[in-house]
Amino acid sequence: MENCLFCKIAAGIIPSTKVYEDDLILAFRDIAPMAPTHILVIPKTHIPSVDGITAENSAVVAHIFATIPAIAREEGLVNGYRVVSNCGSDAGQTVQHLHFHILGGKQLTLEMA
Ligand code: AMP
Ligand code: ZN
Repeated sequence: MENCLFCKIAAGIIPSTKVYEDDLILAFRDIAPMAPTHILVIPKTHIPSVDGITAENSAVVAHIFATIPAIAREEGLVNGYRVVSNCGSDAGQTVQHLHFHILGGKQLTLEMA
């Protein structure tokens, strides 16, 4: 966890462009956007991926999903948006800290963005 990029972003050790933050979660702009709006939403606690979600830690995931609509509204994504989480190597997960991509601002294809 001490070498986890998103734990460092959550702790403010590595800077990010924040769009939302509270005690439990952080949303910030993806450094390599694949759509006009590309935001990552993370729990501040370290969960490695969707595969690490359990009955014990899933409240923060519910909180993320309860917050995503407000983030999307704030970003003006009135025509819709996509929420994606890559889990494991076959899905192309590159950062091993649970994150949900919010993608929007254009007509998305069936590719991730
Ligand atoms: P994934 O490939 O699904 O694991 O997503 C990881 C995402 O993190 C990619 O879209 C990267 O562009 C993004 N990313 C990597 N480093 C940073 C960073 N320092 N700040 C913001 N986004 C980042
Ligand atoms: Zn982490």
